[in-house]
Amino acid sequence: MVDDSRCVVDLARSMLAFFEHESCGQCTPCREGMPRLLRILDKMCAFRATAADLDLAMELAEVMYNSALCALGQSAAMPLRTIIEHFGDEVKGHLNGVCATGTCSSHRVPSERRRDAHV
Ligand code: SF4
Repeated sequence: MVDDSRCVVDLARSMLAFFEHESCGQCTPCREGMPRLLRILDKMCAFRATAADLDLAMELAEVMYNSALCALGQSAAMPLRTIIEHFGDEVKGHLNGVCATGTCSSHRVPSERRRDAHV
């Protein structure tokens, strides 16, 4: 159950973290794309992402959707694509330090597990 008190960017980040945890790592688009996509969503939730990061995230999501070997990797791209399509203003707000729900913070620190991922 999700209501309007939940940030859609953080929700997409949480969903992607689940997909990353479940990935078997067999194919490159999923194995390499997932942590990079997650790192960008971490940056968005910490108000440190740029428009170029969002463009890169969309490109990564497109590659994963079109070339991951199974539905898990293809599905992982969907949360980001969906929030951009339906909640574009909220997504762009995070590029300008604004979270509509007030739950994201500039003090948020990405997890150790993803800190070394290259973006
Ligand atoms: S897309 Fe499927 S096969 Fe490829 S790494 Fe992810 S879970 Fe494994």
